[in-house]
Amino acid sequence: MRPDAPPVAPDGRQTLAGVALADGRVVDLQLDGSRIAAMPAAAGPARRLALPLPVDPHLHLDKTHTAGRAGRGAPGLFGAIEATRADKVHWTAADIRARAGRALAEAETAGMRGVRTHVDWEDAGEPRAWGVLGAMAREWRGRITIQRAALCPLDLIGDPALGPDIAVRVAECEDAVLGAFVYRNDALHDKLARVFALAERHALPLDFHVDEGLDPEARGIETIIELTARHGMAGRVLCGHACSLSVRPAPEAAAVLARAAEAGVGLCALPTTNTWLQDAAPGRTPRLRGIAPLHEARAAGVEVMLGADNVADPFYPYGAYDPLDVLRQAAWAAHLEPGAWIDAVTTTPARWLGLDAGTLEPGAPADFLLLPAPGWDEALRHPCISRRVFRAGHETSAPLTNALTDEAPL
Ligand SMILES: [Zn+2]
Repeated sequence: MRPDAPPVAPDGRQTLAGVALADGRVVDLQLDGSRIAAMPAAAGPARRLALPLPVDPHLHLDKTHTAGRAGRGAPGLFGAIEATRADKVHWTAADIRARAGRALAEAETAGMRGVRTHVDWEDAGEPRAWGVLGAMAREWRGRITIQRAALCPLDLIGDPALGPDIAVRVAECEDAVLGAFVYRNDALHDKLARVFALAERHALPLDFHVDEGLDPEARGIETIIELTARHGMAGRVLCGHACSLSVRPAPEAAAVLARAAEAGVGLCALPTTNTWLQDAAPGRTPRLRGIAPLHEARAAGVEVMLGADNVADPFYPYGAYDPLDVLRQAAWAAHLEPGAWIDAVTTTPARWLGLDAGTLEPGAPADFLLLPAPGWDEALRHPCISRRVFRAGHETSAPLTNALTDEAPL
């Protein structure tokens, strides 16, 4: 037993005293085996923080850990797309498995319990990474829930000759999601209408990379909102990026967000990749951040989440599989009060992925992170965010590390 392990009472319960929760309460967290037994108000001050195990709703496990091999390409989104396309000659099953496995090991150490990964699906045939990540999802069951979203160009999945077969393939897979990259496509409305028809036919949720750029004329999100309302798909359509909303006049953006809330469209912001790729030009300091208007979206009633997006690939050569790190970076990049946005990396993405919300309450599984600080600013101050991981009442903490597993000894 580690010296700071929770003390065990004669009735077998363990108590963690002085635990501050995201809602501001300070409680004594009493554990009974694998469950939270009780959460009475603490007598003393907050000594540590607790939050549900995090969930990342937007990753790219097929691309991860290619940064060193692929290089960066030209600055900006389309340079990253080209660099990744060139790297794909290396994407054997073993290569994908090794890279994604390294990512998942890091995610597990960080305390993650669920992820949605997009998987590039660029032509009519099923991509190799789809099957590899499907096999890994089965292998990781019980540790991390892995959900796959097919990331198709809209011109492909919206093609009446090709889209239907892809939707059938996706629908055959357990827990899979249909998705598209949407940016100022020709005949955008018609193509999106076909995607929604496929989603309805196969009862598939949708997840879009939409308007990932700073052109105010990129308005794909408006069509997605309209079609979500028309198909009654509230809570099943998630929009990632929506960077162009950040440069549209405030009243226009507010009107879009109000309609998104009404239709039940969710928003996933990706602060690290957006600040890296948007407004990027050689020899010039970026002026714009490209982060979707998070505060305004939440105020309008939109469910807002945060994701890591790309980690160690041409789209973002840095990053970590740690939603606390994403929250930390969002705090400065988007001026968030981290304690008020814990739900964006825990309960909200959990619900959108169809998992239990993971709320900390008596009777719930004792699955949580414990941070050794009395407040969120102190907890997230340093990039190596210290935490203890509890799963089913057992502490599973291990030091976070970025070590390559094949590193030779000195
Ligand atoms: Zn993405």
